[in-house]
Amino acid sequence: MDFNLTPDQKTLQLKVRRFVYEELIPLEVEVEMADGYLAPEMRAELKEKLRPLNVHASSLPRAVGGTEYSWVDQVIINEEIGKATNGLGWLVWAPAIVLKHASAEQIERYVRPAANGERDACYAVTEPNAGSDASKLETTAVRDGDDWLISGEKWHVTSGDVADFVVIQCATDPATGDGNTLFFIDLDSPGINIIDHPKYMHHIIDGHPRYAFNNVRVPDANRFGPVGEGLSISKEWFLHERVMIAARCCGAAYRLIEEASEFAQSRVQFGEPISEYQLIQQKLADSLTELWAARLLTFATAQAADSAETEEDRKRVHAKAAMAKLYASEMANRVADHAVQIFGGRGYMRENVAERFYRELRVERIWEGTSEIQRIIIAYSLYKRGVEALID
Ligand SMILES: Cc1cc2nc3c(=O)[nH]c(=O)nc-3n(C[C@H](O)[C@H](O)[C@H](O)COP(=O)(O)OP(=O)(O)OC[C@H]3O[C@@H](n4cnc5c(N)ncnc54)[C@H](O)[C@@H]3O)c2cc1C
Repeated sequence: MDFNLTPDQKTLQLKVRRFVYEELIPLEVEVEMADGYLAPEMRAELKEKLRPLNVHASSLPRAVGGTEYSWVDQVIINEEIGKATNGLGWLVWAPAIVLKHASAEQIERYVRPAANGERDACYAVTEPNAGSDASKLETTAVRDGDDWLISGEKWHVTSGDVADFVVIQCATDPATGDGNTLFFIDLDSPGINIIDHPKYMHHIIDGHPRYAFNNVRVPDANRFGPVGEGLSISKEWFLHERVMIAARCCGAAYRLIEEASEFAQSRVQFGEPISEYQLIQQKLADSLTELWAARLLTFATAQAADSAETEEDRKRVHAKAAMAKLYASEMANRVADHAVQIFGGRGYMRENVAERFYRELRVERIWEGTSEIQRIIIAYSLYKRGVEALID
C-alpha cells in the first residue's frame, strides 16, 4: 500500500483546503448564531465560487456532468470539507446517485442537473417504524396502470428543505412491506407535504424535515432500478457514503487537534502554558495517534475500493467501509470531547469550534448505519471471510 499523495492529489488537497479555510470557516460563527441559517444568496455565491474548482459531483462520470474522481481523491476532498463546522462543507455538492441503475431519461432529468448543481437531491429511506432495519417499509408504492401511487411518511430527510427531488425507497409489496424499490420524485408533485421541521442537536445549513406522501402519482419511468432492488441499490450508496463520512470525521479531528494544540500552547495557567502539563499532552497525543489510525483505515479502504475487481473484492470493501466509518466516527467524537476539555469554559461556548464539533459529530455514529449496525456488518463478514481477508 502506498499512502503518498501524487502531485495532482496534493494540488487537489490544497485547493479544497484553501477554499475551506478562506471561504467556509470564516462563516461558521455567523451561521451557528443563526441556528444554521445561510442566506440563499450566500449559498448561491459560494456555489459559484466552487464551480471552477471542479470538485463537485466527484463520484459521477464527466459524461453526466460529474468530475469523476477516484475513491482516494474523493476521500481527500471529503477530508478537507470535513474541517468546516455547520455542514458548510456540504456546499460542495455531491449527489449520491448510483448511476448504473439510472435510465437515460433519469440521467437527463435528475442526474445531470444534480451533477451541474442546478437541481438538489435528497434521499428518503427512514420511517417512523423503519430505521436500522430498512427492509420493512410502511411507505408503499402500488401499481396503477403505467404509474405508481406512493403513500407514507419519511423522517429525517436531510436536505429535504432545499432539495427539489427525492430518491425514495418504498415497499412495492404492500401486504408484506417487502419488494423494496426506489423512485425519483419531483418534490413539487401533488400529494407531497412537509409535516414537520424538527430541530436537531446540530445547527447545520440543511434541515431534516418529515415528509408525508399521499397517493403521489409517479410514472413507471421514474422507477430507479428494478422492482425489489431498492435496498441493494441503497446499500451501494451507503457503502460510498460511509467511507466519505470516515474522511470527513478525519478532517474534523484534524481541525480540532490543530486548534486545541494551538490554544494549549498559548493558554497560561499556574504560570505555564497548559500544553506543558502532561494531562493535556495525553489528550493531544492520544487524539493525534487515533487520527492517524483512522486516516490509514480510511485511505486504505478507498484504495481497496479503487482496485476492487470482483464481487468478493467489493464485499470486502463493504466490511472495510464499516470499519472505517465505525472507527473514524467514534475517534472524532473522542477527539472532540478532549478538545472541549482543553478549551475549558471556552470549549462550552457555541462560538468555539470544539463545542460545535462536539454536537455535530455525534450524528456520525448514527446516520448511514449506527455504530451497532457497522459492528454487525463487520462481525458477519469476519465469520464468512476470516481475519486475513479483511485486514490484508
Ligand atoms: C440528523 C439526521 C439525518 C438523517 N438523514 C437521513 C436521510 O437523509 N435519509 C434517511 O433515510 N435517513 C436519515 N436519517 C436516519 C438515520 O439513518 C437513522 O436514524 C439511523 O439509520 C438509525 O435508525 P433509527 O433512528 O430508526 O434508530 P433504530 O433503528 O430504532 O435504532 C435505535 C438503537 O437501536 C440500535 N439497534 C437497532 N438494531 C440493532 C441490532 N440489530 N443490534 C444492536 N443494536 C441495534 C441502534 O444502533 C440504535 O442505537 C438521519 C438521521 C439523523 C439523526
